[in-house]
Amino acid sequence: MLFDKINKSIKYLKTYNPGLFNGKYKLDANENSFDLPENIKKIILKEAKKIEYNRYPDPYSDKLRHLISVKLKINQNKILIGNGSDELIYYLLLSFIEKGDNVIVPYPTFEMYKILSKICGARVIEVPLDNNFDLNKERIIEIIKNKKIKFVFIAYPNNPTGNCFSENAIKRILQEKETFVVVDEAYFEFSGKTFLNELRKYKNLIILRTFSKAFSLASLRTGYIIADETIINIIRKVKLPYNVNSFSQLAAYNALKYENQIRKNVNFIIKERQIMKEKLEGLYYFPDSRSNFIFIKVRNPELLKKEFIKKGICVRFFNDARLRNYIRITIGKHKENEMIINILKKGF
Ligand code: PMP
Repeated sequence: MLFDKINKSIKYLKTYNPGLFNGKYKLDANENSFDLPENIKKIILKEAKKIEYNRYPDPYSDKLRHLISVKLKINQNKILIGNGSDELIYYLLLSFIEKGDNVIVPYPTFEMYKILSKICGARVIEVPLDNNFDLNKERIIEIIKNKKIKFVFIAYPNNPTGNCFSENAIKRILQEKETFVVVDEAYFEFSGKTFLNELRKYKNLIILRTFSKAFSLASLRTGYIIADETIINIIRKVKLPYNVNSFSQLAAYNALKYENQIRKNVNFIIKERQIMKEKLEGLYYFPDSRSNFIFIKVRNPELLKKEFIKKGICVRFFNDARLRNYIRITIGKHKENEMIINILKKGF
């Protein structure tokens, strides 16, 4: 039968449902609550006139890579640009996974690690976080010692829990030289914590960054990978030649060039996060957020959902039984955060 020919790796996979926004206040997707500053937009639009729209984009995103390399003091050959980190995770798996290979994914974490691993034919071993939402280092090491593990995925800070895992636990995992450790620093600008300085020491370390969060460019899908040159060259084999379009390259370049202005919004969000923590302290349990969102344990998610819907506020609820009592709220503009605090103060 024609449709039975479906790739077995995806046969039982559910179609990813990103959820539709139908509210007034969008605090459900960890985006930057502030749009790109108007003057940076202006510069981008002016420059965009010069793009030769009839030509394919620069396959290497050289201008952007060069600027990243200067800012991070990293050799340009260790950087590769993609359509958001999503695409880069996909490329990593395509490059290294053979059917049946094992990968370790903590639980809960960013769902795409598991989905893309499965699409690529990997076997996913989920390792639950401990009671403090930290990595279960012992269990992870035990699994690595007993099975061949190609990748361990670590979001740092973690999504949806918002905290940064213990640095020492990650360093210990990195000592397992035959396993690639992906440290996804999508929210780095909100945490200030990075493994960049460990790249020289650990050849198995792969770092992901994105322009979707701090840089307010989620709409343009641009992210990058930083890793040993050998890894980058292998990924180049699977990378679509013209993956990142010219406009995205231009926008990301300028967002980074004028990052001082972007930093103002980031600092504001960090300040608002602190206010949120102080106001909710004692009322709810939440792991210490190092990101632009906060993960809160509530007693009555159903009632809270109704209250949020009534006010047009869209936050992230979870269907999974283990997360049913948690909500994830993106730090918004001051007024939005005040609304959230006032609702939560009523006690849910
Ligand atoms: N990594 C983590 C931990 C995330 O939370 C997200 C977005 N929710 C991504 C990566 C995806 O980022 P991008 O937009 O660059 O694909």
